[in-house]
Amino acid sequence: MDWLEEVLIQCPQCGEEFAIQIETAVDGRVELVEDCAVCCRPARVLITTKSGEVECLEVEAA
Ligand SMILES: [Zn+2]
Repeated sequence: MDWLEEVLIQCPQCGEEFAIQIETAVDGRVELVEDCAVCCRPARVLITTKSGEVECLEVEAA
């Protein structure tokens, strides 16, 4: 099974969507800081994973 899931997030700074890859092997809450693919500003991404799936995804300005 592939434990990397690609999800689209919306940049809190410029509003554009871009894809990031999330590792879903471990259940729980993960916090990442990703640079927007469009405006290059950082976005904090809070991800909750369960049973190999992304259960909840929140994005805020970092
Ligand atoms: Zn952006």
